[in-house]
Amino acid sequence: MGTEGPSRHLRWDDESLGVRKRVALWLSREVGDGNVFTMDQLREAFPGVAQLDRRLRDLRNDGWVIDTARSDSSLHPNEMRFAARGLPVWESSVRFPRRGSALRDEVLKRDGFACTHCGLSVAEAPSSAPAEVVLEVAHITSLAAGGSGGLENMITLCANCHRLLDHAKPVDPDSVLQQVDDLSEDERSLLLAWMVLDQRPFSPVERAWAAYRRLRPAERKAVTRRVAEAVRDQIPLYGGT
Ligand SMILES: [Zn+2]
Repeated sequence: MGTEGPSRHLRWDDESLGVRKRVALWLSREVGDGNVFTMDQLREAFPGVAQLDRRLRDLRNDGWVIDTARSDSSLHPNEMRFAARGLPVWESSVRFPRRGSALRDEVLKRDGFACTHCGLSVAEAPSSAPAEVVLEVAHITSLAAGGSGGLENMITLCANCHRLLDHAKPVDPDSVLQQVDDLSEDERSLLLAWMVLDQRPFSPVERAWAAYRRLRPAERKAVTRRVAEAVRDQIPLYGGT
């Protein structure tokens, strides 16, 4: 799958283009789909350009598939494989749910501003909260693999889960059913309820955890101390006598 190649007049060594575009062009022209390259080769092509690994991450966010030794065991640790093109980032009219876009907001709202994988939610005012919870909107099936750019193919994940799931092997229905087979009867009923709801409602303890994670470090320490005392003395934190 993937997208059409860049038009001929675009050159990867044209310094008037942005680095992300140039790296995408370099991968398409110099490396070629399915071929292996190293970070050193990339650095050689873009001498003096900082944070090239960040450019690769940007491209991954735009659906480009660039495997590392972590996701593809046939690769050496210093090798990467340019597996598939994603969005044609060399075009200036590419539409993608950017920060603040209506589609991104819609996905976040639908998912209750919480990671659908672990349940962590983000503070409404991120500037005043610890920055560890960063919500991202991801494609379930990557654009490069033919996934749609619509709401139904999008999911809210925290940055940690996003990274985790990006490096996980793709799943197929049989492997899901196999995992379900290993569950207890209660767990299976619970899972079915989530499936029917098409949502995983988080339990009170998970909500408390997510809220706790939104506190500033000093506040967290104070709250942890209070909870430790309550647990030790078996007393309620509030409303007790
Ligand atoms: Zn998460």
